[in-house]
Amino acid sequence: MNIRFWGVRGSIATPLTSAELTARIEMAVNAGLKAGLTDESQIPVFARELPGHITQVIGGNTACIEVQAGSKLLILDAGTGIRLLGLDLVQRHRGNPFEAHILLTHTHWDHISGLPFFVPAFNPKNDLTVYGPSSGLEDRLKGQQTPEYFPVPLLKTFNVFQLKNQNRFRIGDVRIETLPLNHPGDSYAYRIACGDKTLVYATDSEYKDLSTKALKPFTDFFRGADILIYDAQFTLLENIEKEDWGHSNMFCGIDMALEAGVKTLVFTHHEPVYEDKKLWETLEKANEYMEICQPPGKRIKLYLATEGLEISI
Ligand SMILES: [Zn+2]
Ligand SMILES: [Zn+2]
Repeated sequence: MNIRFWGVRGSIATPLTSAELTARIEMAVNAGLKAGLTDESQIPVFARELPGHITQVIGGNTACIEVQAGSKLLILDAGTGIRLLGLDLVQRHRGNPFEAHILLTHTHWDHISGLPFFVPAFNPKNDLTVYGPSSGLEDRLKGQQTPEYFPVPLLKTFNVFQLKNQNRFRIGDVRIETLPLNHPGDSYAYRIACGDKTLVYATDSEYKDLSTKALKPFTDFFRGADILIYDAQFTLLENIEKEDWGHSNMFCGIDMALEAGVKTLVFTHHEPVYEDKKLWETLEKANEYMEICQPPGKRIKLYLATEGLEISI
């Protein structure tokens, strides 16, 4: 299974600001002065060794993940990141028709607002299906494209497939299950298995009661996953302050992943007001926490989801 992240921000698209860019340039120049650079030929190597918070953009597009599972192309959520994925798919297939399956966790804007900009939908030869357990899914998607909000109605290229609350279904050889999460409105996790590999995508969920019993339905659903993609919108402190906002944090994710025997844990749905540096620092603290909590030989690999991150399992 190959996984690529196209949108990792929660709530609203968050482009890099000029102030952030200027701050990065200042940090790089300062580091260059400290390193005593004397010749421009030294710059490429020096730049490559600068820390990620200077050179790497976590990304401002909202939720969208591409998953190649065997011969099936799955797309998890249709936030603004799906626009870039759509352009890439058209290029990749050189305009030839293809099949894609878009699995929506729920219909908050950060998970559907890219759908009207998914260019492959403008080619009626493409075979595109949108799935989701949110009630009245098709009407909700049509609703965001009424003339008051968008000039083009929901394209007929999209076959909308209404899932039930808790559902098991197959797309070819890919086995899929859903589970309701704790989120205002609704949100659903997907467990996706292909061959002997399993991915769980559980975004937009809050876990207020941290007792083993209360978490059991979720940890059972995460059980043994090769990769768990987890909502870590807030720091631990802000998660406590923002009770009932429907999101989680890295530390809760680590506890649940350890309990569930997950192998790789990816944190996504980053809070829009958090700058990249803060996210990398929180990941560092999460790694320290993991060092303390991990039983011998059971280290879970932790990743911060960034636009363009690719993971194969
Ligand atoms: Zn969201
Ligand atoms: Zn949401």
